[in-house]
Amino acid sequence: MSRKNKDRLRSSAPPVSATMQSQESSGLSYVVPTEFVELPSRGRYYSEDHPLHNKEVVEIRHMTAKDEDILTSRSLLKKGLAIDRLIQSVLVEKTFDVDSMLVGDKNAILVQSRIHAYGADYQTQALCPACSTPGSNNFDLDDVGLNYGDDWGELNVSGPTEQGTYLVGLPKSGLTAEVRLLTGYDEKHVMKIIENRRKHKLSETPVTTQMKQFVVSVDGHTERSQLNNFIENMPTLDAQYLRVAYNKIVPNIDMTLPYSCAECGTESRLEVPFTADFFWPNR
Ligand SMILES: [Zn+2]
Repeated sequence: MSRKNKDRLRSSAPPVSATMQSQESSGLSYVVPTEFVELPSRGRYYSEDHPLHNKEVVEIRHMTAKDEDILTSRSLLKKGLAIDRLIQSVLVEKTFDVDSMLVGDKNAILVQSRIHAYGADYQTQALCPACSTPGSNNFDLDDVGLNYGDDWGELNVSGPTEQGTYLVGLPKSGLTAEVRLLTGYDEKHVMKIIENRRKHKLSETPVTTQMKQFVVSVDGHTERSQLNNFIENMPTLDAQYLRVAYNKIVPNIDMTLPYSCAECGTESRLEVPFTADFFWPNR
């Protein structure tokens, strides 16, 4: 498998020894090691007053028993807050809200923290792309790559604009969609809408709900009701194209890993899902 265009998640920044966490000067102390994680955004898109503005790496400390408490707290899990609390906890610099981080940057921290805590072996269920049989597979998280969001191939994409948005030419309608990157806040908002719809027994609309969050204009039209109407009635071809383009634009980790199917023997690569096995292995 060629990796020549694939950047490694683990940062090439020098190993840390001088910047370890300060300790109480009591008798029994263990210095928690820290490490730098490369941000897929490379600090672009953060406003000048954000601590991550133009920061290519962020320093995290390795997970401790305290962090496991966070992950096993039922009340936090219920609110879906455990993951955010974990990120907040491992960040050495706590001068910003985790919700203000780009989704891909949060993911990079999660994968690196997982590797420190439980190792790179990630055993979980996945669906074989060839025969659709579910199977358990051992994925190697050390092979997770980085997508900086600037390789769009042949797609009709331009940007960033002055607002940090991107323009995507839609093939069927010929219209231009302007998209923005989502932060933790936006992600939470999407989750809330999806949860609300579930509560009210409305049909689930994960695709359009997310699209409504990241599309900021279509052919210059910015009025929300018009945009929502357009998104709901968008030709399937355009919707698919927009999704593919958006995934290329968003700086993120690349969780596409090799998978071998026990059923049909096909060797393929697939987008590895984040399941409970990610932070709760073998429980
Ligand atoms: Zn198969």
